[in-house]
Amino acid sequence: MLIEHLNRQLLELDAAALRRRRRTVLSPCGPSQQLQPGGQLLAFCSNDYLGLASHPELVEALAEGARRWGAGSGASHLVSGHSLAHAELEQELARWLQPHIPAAQALLFCSGFMANLALMTALGDAQTTLLADKLNHASLIDGALLAKARLQRYPHGRLDQLERLLRDCQTPLKLIVTDAVFSMDGDLADLPELLRLAEAYDAWVVIDDAHGFGVLGAQGHGSLEHFGLCSERLIYMGTLGKAAGLSGAFVAAHPTVIEWLLQRARSYIYTTALPPALAHALRASLALIEGPPGQQRRARLQDNVAQLRAGLAALVERQPAWSLAQSPTAIQPLIVGGNDLAMRLSAALEAQGLWVPAIRPPTVPAGTARLRITLSAAHEPAQIQRLLDALAATLESQP
Ligand SMILES: *Cc1c(COP(=O)(O)O)cnc(C)c1O
Repeated sequence: MLIEHLNRQLLELDAAALRRRRRTVLSPCGPSQQLQPGGQLLAFCSNDYLGLASHPELVEALAEGARRWGAGSGASHLVSGHSLAHAELEQELARWLQPHIPAAQALLFCSGFMANLALMTALGDAQTTLLADKLNHASLIDGALLAKARLQRYPHGRLDQLERLLRDCQTPLKLIVTDAVFSMDGDLADLPELLRLAEAYDAWVVIDDAHGFGVLGAQGHGSLEHFGLCSERLIYMGTLGKAAGLSGAFVAAHPTVIEWLLQRARSYIYTTALPPALAHALRASLALIEGPPGQQRRARLQDNVAQLRAGLAALVERQPAWSLAQSPTAIQPLIVGGNDLAMRLSAALEAQGLWVPAIRPPTVPAGTARLRITLSAAHEPAQIQRLLDALAATLESQP
């Protein structure tokens, strides 16, 4: 009965071209990936924006961390899993965010998904309204649905509608919740205006900077550095598995917010702490991001974004049914519309040795299936040209 029930639904996914499958990779993360089956592909799909995931210094730091701390943490943070390696990483992250959130402290999580669950459920009590952008990441949406708070969602980027909701809001506490860089479109939230609204209506702002941390700002400190913001009302979530090249996440906020998460957030309390070796390696990653290597890689990434966008703009002129998102970031979607078409394009690119994922509903709204191209500082200009040439060739062969 259960199996038939599930198989029927899986067939429906097939019929709608929505069935997903995993690819097994045989090589470390990088522009060139060995797949089984599939051979060698030039990849435009990772979130390794600075090309740090396979950086020799981080590989060495992870090994050194394991020699110093062993392989696992052995327990949750509140039992016996909280090591000096974790504590020092939290202090360093707090230092990064303190220019933007006065006296901020930081709390480490095993993943961004768990950090967002923690924020939504621990802060979203019955006295609170969560006001969330409709295109927020799935983890913020699921966290908000689990929370006791009232949830109100505003259409993507429509701060006029957000302001109306804030004006009419009846609960004593209000939390505006937004991605800083939207993960399927690559556009930036208007954080200065969101903060202005928060100040005007006595609300707080939860910012998910999964795609901004390490990438935005002169020192890579993220979207708050990029916009030059500073306020006690900011609650910041950064992930460590994207630009930082490893794994994990953190929240930086007012010390009382951090203490409340530590006391109440179930996705913090009831889970094994990250391996301390990972925390050790993450400090090496932060040093790379903040220093000259990070600066060079951010400049390189910006050059790559400019090259790709110029090429895609020329392509979209020849195929007006497609469109390019207004994205200044490493996430550069080419929106083509139908699920089938997106899948066919992705397959045609793969036949030419390129790995560009098709993203379909429900991850994106119906009718906006897309090729989601992500760039890294590790891509060479010639590799980006190869993608543009392949897209042009694919366009020629479209009916
Ligand atoms: C990837 C991502 C997350 C989840 O982070 P993980 O550390 O991968 O669990 C949360 N929010 C956004 C916007 C993301 O893109």
